[in-house]
Amino acid sequence: MAKVMKTVKSIKVDADKCSGCRACEIACSAFHATPKYSSINPARARIQIIRYPLRDIWMPVFAGEYTPAECMGRPSYVIDGKEYPECDFCRASCPARNRFKEPDSLLPLKCDMCESDPPEKEPLCVQWCLEDVLTYEEREEEVEEGIEIEDVEAGLLAMVDKYGLQKILDTATRISQNVVTFESK
Ligand code: SF4
Ligand code: SF4
Repeated sequence: MAKVMKTVKSIKVDADKCSGCRACEIACSAFHATPKYSSINPARARIQIIRYPLRDIWMPVFAGEYTPAECMGRPSYVIDGKEYPECDFCRASCPARNRFKEPDSLLPLKCDMCESDPPEKEPLCVQWCLEDVLTYEEREEEVEEGIEIEDVEAGLLAMVDKYGLQKILDTATRISQNVVTFESK
């Protein structure tokens, strides 16, 4: 497979600095509202703070890929004497939990690095984190050319898992017939 250069975007997290203020969740959900900035709902944020206030644990985690299958185990991590249970570090939108799912439809949410036109100078969560927990970085990397799964494809996969392929096809057929009828009026 051919190699191509790609700009890899990443956000470094220094969790020790996080105060749990959740400004990042608010900024992300507002930026991704439709229309943009029309509402705030942290449940729709693509970054979520894992919070255990009584143990002074605040851990920002970014939404990653959708997966139709949950894993078999539930590992836990101990870092600096603090235990992080089960799936807290996992970025997947998976069937085992409601994290990183759009709250009304339960369709998967994924961090898109705030891609927009015109582009933002930095992702919104980075701009709004006043504690310097989040640091945005870009680097050039040689990668194998491949087909990337688009967000719309991931959303369709999730809908097929939830409703079944036949129902999605029937609905798409009905919608396309309605669109044709509407356009020919
Ligand atoms: S980079 Fe953008 S999309 Fe990703 S979590 Fe931050 S604000 Fe949300
Ligand atoms: S804005 Fe920064 S300090 Fe506040 S919760 Fe998010 S990562 Fe933590």
